[in-house]
Amino acid sequence: MTRPFASRLVAWHAAHGRQDLPWQGTRDAYRVWLSEIMLQQTQVATVIPYYWRFLAEFPDVGALAAAPLERVLEHWSGLGYYRRAHHLHAAARVIVAEHGGSFPRDVEALAALPGIGRSTAAAIAAFSFSVRAAILDGNVKRVLARHRGIEGFPGSARVETALWRVAESLLPANDIETYTQALMDLGATVCTRTRPQCERCPVAGDCVARRDGRTDALPSPRPARRLPQRALRVLLLEHAGNLLLEKRAPVGIWAGLWSLPEMALDDDVAAHCRARFGAQVTVGDALPAIEHGFTHFRLTLHPQRVAVRRWPARAEAPGYAWLLPGDALAAALPAPIRKLLRSIAVPALPSRQPRARTR
Ligand code: SF4
Repeated sequence: MTRPFASRLVAWHAAHGRQDLPWQGTRDAYRVWLSEIMLQQTQVATVIPYYWRFLAEFPDVGALAAAPLERVLEHWSGLGYYRRAHHLHAAARVIVAEHGGSFPRDVEALAALPGIGRSTAAAIAAFSFSVRAAILDGNVKRVLARHRGIEGFPGSARVETALWRVAESLLPANDIETYTQALMDLGATVCTRTRPQCERCPVAGDCVARRDGRTDALPSPRPARRLPQRALRVLLLEHAGNLLLEKRAPVGIWAGLWSLPEMALDDDVAAHCRARFGAQVTVGDALPAIEHGFTHFRLTLHPQRVAVRRWPARAEAPGYAWLLPGDALAAALPAPIRKLLRSIAVPALPSRQPRARTR
């Protein structure tokens, strides 16, 4: 008789699972939560140094709640998907204000916090408080869709409901921490998106996708859809070797991050700079366009070099900063803007005025 799915995974984990990740072996819900949020959409190797630096700066939930958002975003800089940092900060404040600084222990209360979905709540509850709850992140959806031969895109409500049902039915009576970690490890290291290593898999014996030779076809891909396309010009305003960055609004895309000033593609660049900043400029080269995908639309950024000849004092408002390109890279920047700044060596274009003060 085949051993239960969970027993095989737990046994496999003892010999083949990941044992030495920095957030393993702790029951500190703050550390577990931080690692779970950082690991969303980001590889383990990328997360590890950020995890340690973040903890050194914000060692507990109280320290995170007390910090200004700006500092949190700075420590997130380079990790991308900054919405996660906004949510971490907001959730820390809720935990302090409404839960006395201690994490709630049940899944529903955890899932009510900003940025914590049902699966992340279950992982925090399992690792920190041994709560018997099912996780269903992207990797686990893939494992279960293949193992049970579940057709359809896992992001659809119908398929997701079916996967949750399976995930809950497989939970072991004991050792929820090891089982949860084993499921995560199997998805990350064996049942990978491409070329799963079924010969190393502890649940290969009753895997439907393997039996039917359908590991490439499951899970079903997202149905194709055409996303709306938007385009903007971004200005590389250069003054004595410095670049102008602009702080974005606290809501909307790239909320609260530093970015380049934007303008409509069809407007005249010099006239725009004159009307918006009162600046006299010389329009330089247009750089290759950058494509960036959001969930609901695609954005094309058209970078435009602009040399500032005259920059009026009235344009030195809070929310703008003139920075050397190297310093600009240390700011909390959207991923495509970071990529753009990394890709260019910004020369000091001719300028008649000393640079405006950095704020
Ligand atoms: S047998 Fe292969 S496809 Fe099935 S769960 Fe294991 S690794 Fe994934």
